[in-house]
Amino acid sequence: MRTSIATVCLSGTLEEKLHAAARAGFDGVEIFEQDLLVSPDSPETIAALAHRLGLSLDLYQPFRDFEGVAEDEFEKNLVRAQKKFDLMARLGMDTMLLCSNVGTATIADDGIVVEQLRRLGDLAERCGIDIAYEALAWGRFVSEYDHAWDLVRAADHPRIGTCLDSFHILSRDTDLSRISEIPGEKIFFLQLADAPALSMDVLSWSRHHRVFPGEGAWDLTDFLARVAATGYAGPVSLEVFNDSFRQADTQRTAIDGLRSLRWLEASVAAEAPTDHGAAEASTGHGAATGHDTSGRSTGGPGTPDGTGLDLQPLPRVAAPSGINYVELSTDDLGTLTRQLHQLGLRFIGFHRSKPQVQLWRRGSARIIITEVDPETARGTFLRGIGFEVSDASASMDRASLLHAVEVPREQTHNDEVLRGVFAPDGSEVFFHQATGDDPIWVAEFGTGGVEQSSRIDHINLAQPAHHYDEAVLFYTSLLALEAQPSQDVPSPSGLVRSQVMSSADGAVRIPLNVSPAGSAEVTVRGANPTGDTYPEHVAIACEDIFAAAATALGRGLEFLEVPENYYEDLEARFALDPQLLDALREHNILYDRDETGEFLHFYTATIGSVFFEMVERRTGYRGYGAPNAPVRLAAQHRRNTGS
Ligand code: MG
Ligand code: MG
Repeated sequence: MRTSIATVCLSGTLEEKLHAAARAGFDGVEIFEQDLLVSPDSPETIAALAHRLGLSLDLYQPFRDFEGVAEDEFEKNLVRAQKKFDLMARLGMDTMLLCSNVGTATIADDGIVVEQLRRLGDLAERCGIDIAYEALAWGRFVSEYDHAWDLVRAADHPRIGTCLDSFHILSRDTDLSRISEIPGEKIFFLQLADAPALSMDVLSWSRHHRVFPGEGAWDLTDFLARVAATGYAGPVSLEVFNDSFRQADTQRTAIDGLRSLRWLEASVAAEAPTDHGAAEASTGHGAATGHDTSGRSTGGPGTPDGTGLDLQPLPRVAAPSGINYVELSTDDLGTLTRQLHQLGLRFIGFHRSKPQVQLWRRGSARIIITEVDPETARGTFLRGIGFEVSDASASMDRASLLHAVEVPREQTHNDEVLRGVFAPDGSEVFFHQATGDDPIWVAEFGTGGVEQSSRIDHINLAQPAHHYDEAVLFYTSLLALEAQPSQDVPSPSGLVRSQVMSSADGAVRIPLNVSPAGSAEVTVRGANPTGDTYPEHVAIACEDIFAAAATALGRGLEFLEVPENYYEDLEARFALDPQLLDALREHNILYDRDETGEFLHFYTATIGSVFFEMVERRTGYRGYGAPNAPVRLAAQHRRNTGS
């Protein structure tokens, strides 16, 4: 699949954008006019740079407010077009985006638009330019893709085709079935963007909240499959206007963008009912999943995947079956290990060849503690997570093909070989072959010590705001976790956006929290010793929260204190048994209930940027005690500020 990205997606100068796109591995770019206008370099210099970088210049955009106007206006517009064609010749470009008229259109007459498109086609023909006509969702008279296609078809000009942009189509919830009516060769360009589900005017939604495929709420796999089925063989390009992306690191955003396309490409390839898919299924990566055939015709010619796009698969992975371990780093070993002891974890041993590393566990909740060298890192922080996967080497291969960076790891010769990659927040993600038994590496810490039945319930990670969407795509595309609807949780220092990434069976749950603006970013873990990062936590599930709380109390745990107002409200909301309510109160245990069950949990004080939560899930409760999060945040705030 040929990949492209509009320069508007990235921060930086045009030159920086081209370098970043090339380094990430894109095949081409769309030149956004504004980026060229502000560049000190001539069009010829830009063209030469792109050539040197191996980037094709796929689309010049946007050309606006052209069609549906009175004749005198139209003639001026043709002159304007000619000037842009001359500029494109200097750039060596041959495809221009024409957006449907939003401003100056005065004539709601398809016949006139068709006639004006045809005359533009004649001019374009003389200059060797193709025009890709796109219906903007807020176009004055043309706002639907099928309307734009009807006009293009009626213009019947070899230089006039259409541009499909997923944002303009999916934001209007337009019926997609007519995509199959468009011959692939009349789709002159394809632009992809995803978006979160928001209720706001479509122009602001588009200009500020577009995200890369897989980072929003839409089914881009279905969308691309429909376009692929037309036989479209051109570039698949990202066009994303996003306030965060415009501020984020150029190179990171470019890699994030390419990852989204590779993931999407593989998702479509995995669904495609082709020989290719069947061959892959027989190699043991799992059978092709079902596919929606409504409105799709099968297969363009030409490439092994049966479409014009030459879609490449990735090694398939299923969601992890569990959390193998959580690793924490600390420069305060005494305080941290005391807290683990209070929570009923047992010290198992030191690593046989790395004395700074030790293992603590409670049942299958395994916590590895690494004492940090104060020269390299400070504080107590979450360093990484081991995920149990069905095929660790397939997971690692997939991660590499999705441009994740491998964690360098010193390997002692007889230790279990473990490989992992960095997540966008700087934490390490390791892939462990699931065995259904204790992992092999545990023996590296000695033996014994598994008596309670406990497991890691969830791990709550803080995300820097600029990399939040990247994180959602990372966990979706590498680990096959699913993004649950996001929620906003009020805290004394700001609203915390929270979104859970989880496996369908709930065995792996990673709530991601965007730190409120102003709190320090956590991308470089251990680099911020002051502890003003948004704290992260590890939740351990147990079978008897009251027994765990009694043990903790007996061992001197400092609980996070819950105010009496909370318990009064709890009584009002749930009409709890007075004895249960007293027991909750006594141990600072929080309570929640849903249709299926109950959730009881308590929190520890924060050490560095980490705290713990002990939870008991009763009869299939599925949440995380979200109604209690503001109570927890306020209590932490009081504790941290001493108020
Ligand atoms: Mg567009
Ligand atoms: Mg929690």
